[in-house]
Amino acid sequence: MQPAEQLKKRVKEHLSSYTKITRVELEGPFVVIYAENPKEILNIPDAITNAAKTLKKKIIVLASKPLKDESSTKEFIRKLVPQKAEITDIKFVRETNEVYIIAKRTGYVVGKGGSNILEILKETGWRPIIIRAPTIKSTFLDTFYSILISGSVDRKKILRKMSARIYRSPIGGNRGLFLTFLGAAREVGRSAILVNTNESTVLLDSGISVGGKNPFPRFDHPAFRLDDLDAIVVTHAHLDHSGALPLLFKYGYRGPVYLTKPTRDLIMLLLYDYLNLSQKMGITPFFSWRDVVNLMNHMITLDYGETVDISPDIKLTLYNAGHILGSSLAHLNIESARYNILYTGDFRYRDTKLLDKAIRRFPRVEALIMECTYCGESDVLPSLKEAEDYLFSIIRETTERGGKVLIPALAVGRAQEIMLSMVDGFKRGELPDVPIYLDGMIYDSTAIHSAYPDYLSSYVRNRVFKEDKDPFTDPHFNFIGSPDERPDVTTGGPAVIIAPSGMLTGGPSVEYLRLMAPNESNSIVLVSYQAEGTLGRKIREGAKEIRVPNEEGELVTIKVKARVHVVEGFSAHADKVQLLTYLNTIEPRPHRVFLVHGEESKIRSFMPLAHKSISGMRFSSPHVGETFKLA
Ligand SMILES: [Zn+2]
Ligand SMILES: [Zn+2]
Repeated sequence: MQPAEQLKKRVKEHLSSYTKITRVELEGPFVVIYAENPKEILNIPDAITNAAKTLKKKIIVLASKPLKDESSTKEFIRKLVPQKAEITDIKFVRETNEVYIIAKRTGYVVGKGGSNILEILKETGWRPIIIRAPTIKSTFLDTFYSILISGSVDRKKILRKMSARIYRSPIGGNRGLFLTFLGAAREVGRSAILVNTNESTVLLDSGISVGGKNPFPRFDHPAFRLDDLDAIVVTHAHLDHSGALPLLFKYGYRGPVYLTKPTRDLIMLLLYDYLNLSQKMGITPFFSWRDVVNLMNHMITLDYGETVDISPDIKLTLYNAGHILGSSLAHLNIESARYNILYTGDFRYRDTKLLDKAIRRFPRVEALIMECTYCGESDVLPSLKEAEDYLFSIIRETTERGGKVLIPALAVGRAQEIMLSMVDGFKRGELPDVPIYLDGMIYDSTAIHSAYPDYLSSYVRNRVFKEDKDPFTDPHFNFIGSPDERPDVTTGGPAVIIAPSGMLTGGPSVEYLRLMAPNESNSIVLVSYQAEGTLGRKIREGAKEIRVPNEEGELVTIKVKARVHVVEGFSAHADKVQLLTYLNTIEPRPHRVFLVHGEESKIRSFMPLAHKSISGMRFSSPHVGETFKLA
């Protein structure tokens, strides 16, 4: 009997004494039981928990068919959920028995420990899916959620097809366990690591290199074959980890992509923006919107700490990485090799206002693949307090002399981090009462942040859930709706402007730079990593003349007279000290460590330091294209 059939049979054996099970389906990595009367089994919570424990699977109980029609279900939900939840919409998908409930305060919809969700399922037979309406109105999110809801039927079909591949018969043998670095090795950008086991092939991240010579990972490597790929795991939304995903779909990949919900939403936003920008600039993008929708329908979202089978011999768990909203450390348990790999993606090992620091305790870890962006000799970041003090003093001095401050920042992560610091600065009276203008994608990205407070720091959660205050809606924040408003902002009174991109590689920050750099009263504050070859790097290194596109898109030379400051403490990456601390405190201790996602010179200086200060670990710094046998 095939493993899939065997699993279904075992689930039935475990659970049919509790209720009449009409059928058991495998949907992606999840086991779904369809019961005539789900109440019977859901009223004995231990039944499911025990079966899930024994079978080591996530089990979902659903009704074979709805018990109430749509209008009485709506009525039931409105009666059950307190008004405070502010439900904005309820939508039904008949083919899948799903009811989408969109609300401003989802906590009240979910109920204590999920009690309302359970109640809705038990009494109506509809499966509730809760979506948090952002506190900031976002047309992107409205469009995205409607595409998400209309794709429900397709996704269910795709999930069932995927499960046949996950639960296939193992072939046995012992080819071994291999890692191949397809990108981000002795460089920053195009992250992609291939894991080959006895039974399966998994890709960790699929990024592009922004501003680099080689934009894509080495997909031409002999170890990489699209047909053999069982799954892609994406640690976070930044394009250097996710940008090549649509390319793989364009070339025919139709397998699962595992990530967290906020990572899904942010990737959709970044790709949507990329396509819009390409169109505006008259560039033919390397993928289409169709590839993006295809990608979305193959995404399987996981919560932190949830373990699922992603192939016959690999279990995946995602943990908080503290880098940006939804960012994860990916833990792979490879059963055929009795081996565990932890891949950090990008991570930070200290708490900030926006996020709690990365997790450091795991059931088992033999090999660690660790990012090394800030592992250079002088990469010791100041504390967040020092960074804030420095930034606030620049803002005070600049506005006192009648100038304006430009902060080029990544739309995802850095912008929100600085927004939260500023809210505090205003509260403590350390910032002058000036408007903060936020431009470009920061608007929609902030809306996505406001939709997932559960993924943010305990500091934000306390404000949102206990004080009922959303720090992202502070009255100092003004969102720029159209490029026409930019000249007014730069010629008006004192102000702070936060705009993407962070490395001045494109986007509104470049236009602000053209308008603001020639004025010596202004300040430009660099708060992000500036990759080699970018305009940001040039300015950081003191360039006095730069070339930027004007309104017509023609390159013009401008003088940089504004003062340039570098404020480092806001980094979303672990610095040298944090990296060493992480290596010293991770539990259990891995015996192999691979250093990736760092400039060659920095990794070279970190290797001997790590050797000297950490015992019992073997360090490697792979080259692009290099393969390692782990077991
Ligand atoms: Zn990142
Ligand atoms: Zn990265």
